[in-house]
Amino acid sequence: MNGRERVVVVGGGLVGLATGLALQEQGRDVVVVEKEDGWAGHQSGHNSGVIHSGLYYRPGSLKARFATEAARTLPRLCAQWGVAARRTGKMVVATQPEELPRLRALLERGRANGIPVREIAAAEAREREPHVRCVGALVVDSAGVCDFVGLAQALAGRLAAGGAELRPGERVDRLQVGGRRVRVTTSRDVIVADHVVNCSGLHSDRLLGPEDRHAVRIIPFRGEYWTLRCPELVRGLIYPVPDPQLPFLGVHLTRGWDGRVHVGPNAVLALAQEGYRWRDVRADDVARTVGYPGLWRLARRHLRYGAQEVWRSVVPGAFLRTVRTLVPDVLAADLERSPAGVRAQAVLRDGTPSDDFVIRGGPHVTHVVNAPSPAATACLQIGRHVAEKVVSGS
Ligand SMILES: Cc1cc2nc3c(=O)[nH]c(=O)nc-3n(C[C@H](O)[C@H](O)[C@H](O)COP(=O)(O)OP(=O)(O)OC[C@H]3O[C@@H](n4cnc5c(N)ncnc54)[C@H](O)[C@@H]3O)c2cc1C
Repeated sequence: MNGRERVVVVGGGLVGLATGLALQEQGRDVVVVEKEDGWAGHQSGHNSGVIHSGLYYRPGSLKARFATEAARTLPRLCAQWGVAARRTGKMVVATQPEELPRLRALLERGRANGIPVREIAAAEAREREPHVRCVGALVVDSAGVCDFVGLAQALAGRLAAGGAELRPGERVDRLQVGGRRVRVTTSRDVIVADHVVNCSGLHSDRLLGPEDRHAVRIIPFRGEYWTLRCPELVRGLIYPVPDPQLPFLGVHLTRGWDGRVHVGPNAVLALAQEGYRWRDVRADDVARTVGYPGLWRLARRHLRYGAQEVWRSVVPGAFLRTVRTLVPDVLAADLERSPAGVRAQAVLRDGTPSDDFVIRGGPHVTHVVNAPSPAATACLQIGRHVAEKVVSGS
């Protein structure tokens, strides 16, 4: 023993790894326990790969503050760490005049968040993206793309170099607080820690204390992707105008760090926390989800949207029609299914999806309860924020 405090981080996604690194920089002995054999096996490795600019989020929220800072700093940091990332800029396009007021509201929000956003006419939008169809657009130059799996590997490498104990292939089953220590029971061992940080993404609600577990549930929403066989149709990042009532951004077309163009994701309720396909069904996950009143309250509010998303998932023609509202030249033969991702969205008992990052601190255990998009972009900011909470005991 070296007398330093020992912190166990549960989860080796971007948030867990970044939190581990921030705690290591604060002089803690860090142990990262990850149930999969490698890093970034779930949300962090199955997403759109976009560095978000901070455009969408409520001014003053953690999402707005952290994404804005990350968009400014992440590409340079990735360059230093040898991780592929670049600033590409992005366009949010209104395809019908009815969407223009929402586009302008987004412009105002972006300005309030202090990000470099401007409105452009359809002609300029087509100069940037010759195949796009729109009546107006916003451009944000600070958005970009990143190899988030590479970033997770870089974080793990830095943790290992700093002396952290990395334990992939080991699942945390139970946390017991006793005295000033926490007993962490895993699938292989019992680890005694001064503090535990729960960054377990889709499973984070299972490790909450009984009160919080009652108040919030992680609802898994699968996002399905297609790869565009003719990548020349898209130069950068093309997004629709989002529905402000929903926590999702809508199906977009993104040219990733590797040059491939992905189309997606939609948002359908997954039938397992790790339900990457319709046939992935886990009875215990389904029972927890459908037995939660918050799901039904959410579903009642968004019945039409939910039904449309299921329709778009099972009828490829319906998905194609959505894509063609943005880029009409895409043909059915151009779309090839690619792996899906599953979002961990915290939903309160009254059916409200948490719209910000939620981090609950306690004297011995800190829970990252809600870290959906843009948490890949903002992982380092979240990590530093959590580490400050752990160190200050707040
Ligand atoms: C479809 C989709 C598109 C997205 N697009 C973007 C985007 O373009 N840009 C962006 O910034 N964000 C995006 N996001 C969000 C982003 O990917 C996530 O917010 C981020 O990766 C969350 O990281 P995490 O570490 O909290 O979760 P995860 O990456 O899911 O990591 C949690 C880890 O905990 C492990 N774990 C769980 N339970 C246990 C246990 N009991 N014991 C040990 N280990 C455990 C899991 O195996 C997992 O590796 C997207 C997400 C999805 C799903």
